[in-house]
Amino acid sequence: MNKQRCPACGSVDIIDEKKSILIKEPFGGQDNIEIHENICSTCGSRGDFFNQNETLIDETIKKLKQKSIESILNDFVDSKMSMSSIERALEIPQRTLTKWKNRTTAPSSSGVALVRLIKLFPWLLEVAENKYDYNEAQKIHINAAIQKLLPEIDFLKEDFIEAGGIVATSGSALFYRYYEKKDMDNQEKIYNEVTLITNTE
Ligand SMILES: [Zn+2]
Repeated sequence: MNKQRCPACGSVDIIDEKKSILIKEPFGGQDNIEIHENICSTCGSRGDFFNQNETLIDETIKKLKQKSIESILNDFVDSKMSMSSIERALEIPQRTLTKWKNRTTAPSSSGVALVRLIKLFPWLLEVAENKYDYNEAQKIHINAAIQKLLPEIDFLKEDFIEAGGIVATSGSALFYRYYEKKDMDNQEKIYNEVTLITNTE
C-alpha cells in the first residue's frame, strides 16, 4: 500500500487544507484559485507535499498571459495600429500577432514581454522602424516624453516661475527642481571630495 507520507518526518498523519491564492498578470487581470496545503500533524511541516498545485498554477498563469496578449492586441487594433505594420517594424514573421490573438499559436515568454513593452512604450515601434539607430532612438524617446509632458504644463496658471530662462509651471517646475537639486547634491559631493583631499594632505 502506497500511503502518502510527510516528506520531513515520514508520518502518514497529514491534513489536506484548501487555500485561496490570487494570481495576477499585467494587462491580463487576476484570478483566484484554490490550492492544496498539506500540514503534517506530527512535525508541523506545511506545504504542497505531493506537487498537486503546480499544474493548476501554471495553467492559470498561462490563461492570464493569453488574456493579457489578447487585450493588448485588441487595444492595438482599437487604436488603429495594424498588426502587419507592427510585424514589419519588428521584423517578426507575418501573421505572428494575429495567430497569438486568435490562439492559433501561443506566444513565447519573450513574445509576451515584447508586446507588453510596445503597449507601454508604443514609440519603440518607431525606434524599430528606424533600424534601432541610436540618435534617432534618442530623438523619438525625447519627443515622446515631451508630448507626454506638454499637456501637464498649464500656461495660464498663476504660479509661473521664471527660472534660468525656462518658464516653468507646476509640472515642469518639478522636473526643474529635481535637476537643480541633483546639481546641488553633486556640488556638495564634489565639495566634500575636495575637502577630503585637502584634509588628507
Ligand atoms: Zn512531518
